[in-house]
Amino acid sequence: MQITTLCSSSSGNCALVSHEGEYILIDAGVSYRGMTQALGALGITPRELSAVLITHAHSDHIGGLTTLTKRVSTEIIASAEACDGVQRHTCEERRVSPIEPDREFAVGSFTVRAFRTSHDSPGSVGYRISAAGRTLSYCTDLGIVTQTVLDAVRECDTAVLESNHDVTMLRRGQYPATLKRRILGDYGHLSNDACSRLAVTLAQSGTRRVILAHISRENNTPTLALDTNVHALQLAGATVGDGGDIDVTDAPQYGMSRTYTV
Ligand SMILES: [Zn+2]
Ligand SMILES: [Zn+2]
Repeated sequence: MQITTLCSSSSGNCALVSHEGEYILIDAGVSYRGMTQALGALGITPRELSAVLITHAHSDHIGGLTTLTKRVSTEIIASAEACDGVQRHTCEERRVSPIEPDREFAVGSFTVRAFRTSHDSPGSVGYRISAAGRTLSYCTDLGIVTQTVLDAVRECDTAVLESNHDVTMLRRGQYPATLKRRILGDYGHLSNDACSRLAVTLAQSGTRRVILAHISRENNTPTLALDTNVHALQLAGATVGDGGDIDVTDAPQYGMSRTYTV
């Protein structure tokens, strides 16, 4: 199984999961044109997608869904509570397939389980995806790391985790006070520090790669996110890097990541 992020920031989120010629998209927060170009660079077209898994109905996760659903008949999957919000971004006649968190379902040869996340959009979820004995956890847009999230992501091989903001940068930054409170709150976004605590727990459970995602363009830098996570992992006794206990990389804020084998 492999994962490539097509874009990852507060401006748009979309990732491709592939396994032996089968493809799942997680979120569609990129224009159809941008998505087609990125998929084209990987040698596939939107028609080849088995499904699009939606985490929640914020525009940075579903902004490209309207055009995508007009052009291709790929199944769109979201939690039952998120369906209404997602439906508004799909063609009138297209239904969104509702799924229940914590219940496994199959998409081709992938086994998928959604899990609830603490975020201010109804039915917000992350996904745990397995194929051929390997497991990927994907969770962005986390207000806090709940026990549900911990239980769901533990012991995966690769995790895509939100490392959204540096708390000091956010506090000193230009955002209005209400927005700062929202981001810092239990239903907002995960800080570098909170992400690094989750990364340590995952490393101790056997996870070998963490990809830092949804890094804010205004309140964070990739270097700061990486340094915070690497430092916490090293303090916990892990050797970090390719060939170490765990590798940590960032999902680019602009453009695609490289393709990682899970
Ligand atoms: Zn969101
Ligand atoms: Zn988001």
